[in-house]
Amino acid sequence: MSDLGEFALIARYFERSQHPLPTQVVLGIGDDCALLQPTPGMQWAISSDMLVSGRHFFADVNPRTLGHKALAVNLSDLAACGARPVGFTLALSLPDADPAWLQGFSQGLFALADAHHCPLVGGDTTRGPLNICITVFGETPPGQALLRSGARAGDDIWVSGTLGDAALALHCLWGRDQLPAEALALARQRLEQPTPRVALGQALRGIATAAADVSDGLLGDLGHILERSRVGAELEALDAINLLAARAHITGASGTFDPHSQADSTALRYVLSGGDDYELVFTAALESRLQVESAATGCGTRVTRIGRIVRDPGVTVKAPDGSALHGPWASFDHFAT
Ligand code: ADP
Ligand code: MG
Repeated sequence: MSDLGEFALIARYFERSQHPLPTQVVLGIGDDCALLQPTPGMQWAISSDMLVSGRHFFADVNPRTLGHKALAVNLSDLAACGARPVGFTLALSLPDADPAWLQGFSQGLFALADAHHCPLVGGDTTRGPLNICITVFGETPPGQALLRSGARAGDDIWVSGTLGDAALALHCLWGRDQLPAEALALARQRLEQPTPRVALGQALRGIATAAADVSDGLLGDLGHILERSRVGAELEALDAINLLAARAHITGASGTFDPHSQADSTALRYVLSGGDDYELVFTAALESRLQVESAATGCGTRVTRIGRIVRDPGVTVKAPDGSALHGPWASFDHFAT
């Protein structure tokens, strides 16, 4: 990184010596290792996510929103486990040290980091194709992490927030779909600045039986829960389709679900298969409905019940008349396309 120098770049954009560190961070940026000490009795929850230019984002995307998203997708993994964020590392490969880009990127990154009291504690910086890899460290009481393996037949299936709008925005940016300007701006916000459900994840400890975050699409990520828990699922198409915030703009807001309408099938496909929403999909026992709702209200996050866990493997999507739907729903797989 010769234009600015690797160390000058780190010092200018990533080292923030004036910021107080949480007690778990004994030593942050500046030495060969960061030193972390979990709160006594707690367990580490650790996750990494890599964002590659041209694969996970457009190379010319606003660097501020990219900084936000790079951390958001990692915090979303902590949320899915019910863990509390402690800190993160950033491995950054950059084609050049562009001050405007670095300024925007670090602002977006730190705005979200500060909102979650999750400081940057170390990393690596090198020249190369634009690539961002973050590892987050969180903590959770032993035995209380939300796992994918705990769903049981009879449990409700819940989803936080809205689903499908990020994929819809992406299709609009690709020129494969259309939305009025105002609706596109909202959908694009969902794509570029997802909200990790960190508070909700922690509030669901001891209530949810299983959880995952929706990064690759609802069917895919719910599928991980089903596989790990050795169960199946029945989803209600009408409840699912209403998760698409932009639904009114592509269906004419019929208020119900018409399996023969092209627009409704398209909307349902965004909800079931679209990726990049970073909401939580989780399961909980029937008796826990009130607890789920009050946990969600406490975090100011909407949650919706969209179906139930069944004993037999596989997923059935049901029309309002109870009949099973068959659609071209495949979850997004980076190696399949
Ligand atoms: P080393 O060569 O020993 O791996 P470096 O010289 O690469 O260390 O980094 C110097 C210090 O700056 C280290 O504390 C490292 O964690 C930190 N650092 C390097 N790049 C970044 C980055 N992109 N974000 C945060 N900290 C970084
Ligand atoms: Mg290095």
